[in-house]
Amino acid sequence: MKSIVFIAPPAAGKGTQSIRICKEYHLSHISTGDLLREEINHDSEIGKRIKQIINDGFLVSDDIILSLLMRKLENIKGGYILDGFPRNLNQAIKYDEILNSQNKKLDYVIYINLDKELSKKRIIGRVSCPQCGNVYNNMLEENCPQKENICDNCQMPLIKRDDDNEEIFEKRYETYISETAPLIDYYQQKGILFEIDGSLLKDEIFKKICEVIND
Ligand code: ADP
Repeated sequence: MKSIVFIAPPAAGKGTQSIRICKEYHLSHISTGDLLREEINHDSEIGKRIKQIINDGFLVSDDIILSLLMRKLENIKGGYILDGFPRNLNQAIKYDEILNSQNKKLDYVIYINLDKELSKKRIIGRVSCPQCGNVYNNMLEENCPQKENICDNCQMPLIKRDDDNEEIFEKRYETYISETAPLIDYYQQKGILFEIDGSLLKDEIFKKICEVIND
């Protein structure tokens, strides 16, 4: 049973890669960003609050994240990838406590590194399929859909996330540097951090992650 965490700046490819790795290794995919977007779609009071926080580029409170995550983990059997969690030191410490209490351990932390300029370019052109979750980029030739704004797999019109624009990007990136980047040291010290160059092509990144997991 494998337990994997993905850490990366916005749009470095952690969603895309974690979906692919889950298929390859038969793992469950848990994206805290997706859990939050589901909550927003319910249009509840809490969903409205979450939407505001995400669209301001901040992190949602640890209490909300941990309760959504615990609910999800109850239904998961076998190995899983956490995509987007932990996102700050407090979440990492809380997660260690949860794992310890269940006599489990975290096997790998995959850190996909990407510089700010490329991260921004990827955010601004990013669109995804509401059905299969496949991610495309209208601004990057190597990642455009075959037909403009239509998913190659499902033929569904592609959608853009509310928080994928230049203004919110600046705040999201700042939040990443101040809150999430300290986790790199935290996991490096535990000897479970594996860094991958996020500027490589998708298939190359995938291969490198497989090499880490197969070792
Ligand atoms: P990204 O493309 O930036 O990696 P995600 O889909 O992972 O996007 O997350 C979108 C937003 O949801 C984040 O900018 C943040 O506001 C919120 N979020 C996701 N995961 C967490 C978390 N673990 N803790 C707090 N906020 C989170």
